[in-house]
Amino acid sequence: MAKIQMNVPLVEMDGDEMTRIIWKSIKEILLVPYIDLKTEYFDLGLPKRDETDDQITVDAALATKKYGVAVKCATITPNGQRMKEYDLKQMWKSPNGTIRAILDGTVFRSPIIVNGIHPLVSNWKRPITIARHAYGDIYRNVEYRVEEAGKAELVFTNQKGEESRQTIFEFKDKGVLMGMHNLDQSIASFARACFNYALDIKQDLWFSTKDTISKQYDHTFKDIFQEIFEKEYQDKFKAANIEYFYTLIDDAVARIMRSEGGYLWACKNYDGDVMSDMVATAFGSLAMMTSVLVSPEGNYEFEAAHGTVTQHYYRHLKGEETSTNSMATIFAWTGALRKRGELDGLADLVLFADKLESASLKTIEAGLMTKDLSLISELPNKKTVNTEQFLIEVRKTFDSIK
Ligand code: NAD
Repeated sequence: MAKIQMNVPLVEMDGDEMTRIIWKSIKEILLVPYIDLKTEYFDLGLPKRDETDDQITVDAALATKKYGVAVKCATITPNGQRMKEYDLKQMWKSPNGTIRAILDGTVFRSPIIVNGIHPLVSNWKRPITIARHAYGDIYRNVEYRVEEAGKAELVFTNQKGEESRQTIFEFKDKGVLMGMHNLDQSIASFARACFNYALDIKQDLWFSTKDTISKQYDHTFKDIFQEIFEKEYQDKFKAANIEYFYTLIDDAVARIMRSEGGYLWACKNYDGDVMSDMVATAFGSLAMMTSVLVSPEGNYEFEAAHGTVTQHYYRHLKGEETSTNSMATIFAWTGALRKRGELDGLADLVLFADKLESASLKTIEAGLMTKDLSLISELPNKKTVNTEQFLIEVRKTFDSIK
């Protein structure tokens, strides 16, 4: 059979550890046999980032702006221990942070729901999609380790040289300090991305911050959302029979635990980072959460929400068998291929993406799954397969679908 042709390349960002192994296998087993895969390849693996002084990450983000669609493998964000392990020149910043800073935008994370795996929160019946603001806050912060007594101040100097000065704290002894920022423009595009996405998926939008404590910072988020909603979206929401609902983050968490799911929850950058892992785990497994960054200019970057699965990689290096779940990475590829197909008018590429997702779900529903899922699945005929076997089984299912 002739392979599916592509016109415009996908921006392909390779990564680290176990997900790098999975990345290669997905391409070999599930993609290249069916698609004449066109990609512009960027190796974001830590050794290459170190070698290029992290320029490769910037280049990959710029290529995403050029072509519009990227697919990214999980990557290591270095810490002290990684500095030693990889003998790094510098503690390079999180690649995702760098990419998000260049593209701006909002990250939407949704669980992959499959029959036979039930959420740990028994009343959750429908997916909860988390919209995470992808700019600023602690991800673009400036930190300071206070080593002695002294006064910390928050100083803003305008272009005329006028200063606003507030005391943050008078330190009597050692401590820590942090400065962070966000931009009205970025918050507004976050709000619009969430309102548009809610209209797309026809689900209510919830938004939560800690505005009672943070009366300027978080309150600005709340006000911008409200203003844009009233001016631009209220009527559209009414017509679509969906609601916009703002509440304090503590109240949101309490309501979400009691809810049935089936809505979009907009979170500030850090809240979204933390809450999406909680939601993913509660829906079954961190490995069953997809993630897409949508920029205000309409660029898309698809990835798995999980990390590089380090412990499995160390086992793999020792020659031991692994059972690492590749679902979220497969769905990152299908998401990117589908979007490329939609943008370029390639119906067969869109169809391929739909069929591969369906084959992946059917494989699990037939009882063949990796260990993380078999530990929690209630299917009577479940069988744990290894990393590669799972992909081979998905391919068999794919080939059996007419
Ligand atoms: P992780 O997501 O790799 O693992 C967290 C836990 O979930 C582990 O117990 C792991 O075994 C399990 N898990 C995650 N994905 C799985 C899968 N596909 N199949 C089976 N089990 C799975 O996160 P971590 O351990 O905190 O971080 C490991 C590395 O990944 C770190 O270096 C971190 O910087 C990086 N990281 C990258 C991203 C990203 O690129 N988007 C996100 C998070 C962490």
